[in-house]
Amino acid sequence: MVKPMRWGFVGASNIAERVIPSLRKVAGQEPVAVCSRNAERARQFATAMGLQASYTELGSFLREGRFDAVYVSSTNELHCEQTLAALAAGCHVMCEKPLAMNRADAARMNDAARHAGRVLATNHHLRAQAAHRMVRDIVASGALGHVHGVQVSHAVFLPPHLQGWRLDAPGAGGGVVLDILVHNADLLRFLLGREPRRIHTVAQRNGLAQGALEDGAMSVIEFDGGTLAQTHESFVAQHALTRLHVLGTQGSLYAVGSLTQAGTAQLWQRDAQGERELSVPPVDLYETGFRAFAEACAGQGAPLASGVDGARAMAVALAGLTSAASGRMETIPD
Ligand code: NDP
Repeated sequence: MVKPMRWGFVGASNIAERVIPSLRKVAGQEPVAVCSRNAERARQFATAMGLQASYTELGSFLREGRFDAVYVSSTNELHCEQTLAALAAGCHVMCEKPLAMNRADAARMNDAARHAGRVLATNHHLRAQAAHRMVRDIVASGALGHVHGVQVSHAVFLPPHLQGWRLDAPGAGGGVVLDILVHNADLLRFLLGREPRRIHTVAQRNGLAQGALEDGAMSVIEFDGGTLAQTHESFVAQHALTRLHVLGTQGSLYAVGSLTQAGTAQLWQRDAQGERELSVPPVDLYETGFRAFAEACAGQGAPLASGVDGARAMAVALAGLTSAASGRMETIPD
């Protein structure tokens, strides 16, 4: 059972445009209004997405909207204050990743949700990918033996319509580490059921990102139990496929194409019986996330990724940035 909810959207963003049709597939979810810093963009967004109203002022948006839930998809530096305002107005919040720009803000967000008795979720959509859920279950079953290594190749080409603040605005949380490593960190926690403890990141600048911002990075992350993960994030990888390789002492899993927004993937398992392809049903990743969120708001279950999960993933990415600057392995704080 999901809770029927009126939804407000903070930020007339590309991702909001993408998720609204997915949200509408979940019974009882009604996208109502958008709040944008730009009145004309807000009006255009509301018209294009079939919303009843548009606002430029967050206070009146939250007061007049009578929302049950708010989706925050502004640039990253705004997530914290907008989420706090929505929670204070009594709304549940689905916030985009990274949850915040620092640990203190992420803690304030989680504390505020707890005190308000509202659900705070982070939109780590890769948890909804069927291939990842299968990998998680197989890892948990012990069929791979001890999982000692994971490789994540999440190198993509940033499409021209997204080549804005991610490439030239450090203050908005630009750079590939806060954009993609944060997803990989959450996915690895989800797949392994273990906490990351240390990270060593090397960042690179290939000429797409400006100034000090990185457009490529590779990391080694050490998890509880000694599992090592290698991750690669890039904005400049043309014509590349994403790949996930999970290596155990008794077998391995290999996924192609799972690290995207498409919700499709191919997955193979190899062990003493040989190699077989596992059938992966296609999934609307955002619909699945919003359904779990609406159920959690109705008191049933938990969101796919909570605010605490978002804070953990953000902490990994921030430690990765610290490591890239220091040149050393860095501890990931709890
Ligand atoms: P956009 O650049 O599309 O939007 C970010 C903000 O910029 C918007 O909220 C909007 O704010 C403003 N904006 C939008 N279009 C324009 C424009 N043409 N000119 C000037 N300003 C504009 O970013 P994304 O949608 O790619 O990302 C938004 C958030 O969502 C980020 O936190 C990102 O990390 C996350 N994200 C998550 C994904 C996922 O799958 N979980 C996928 C993609 C992004 P305003 O209306 O207030 O001016």
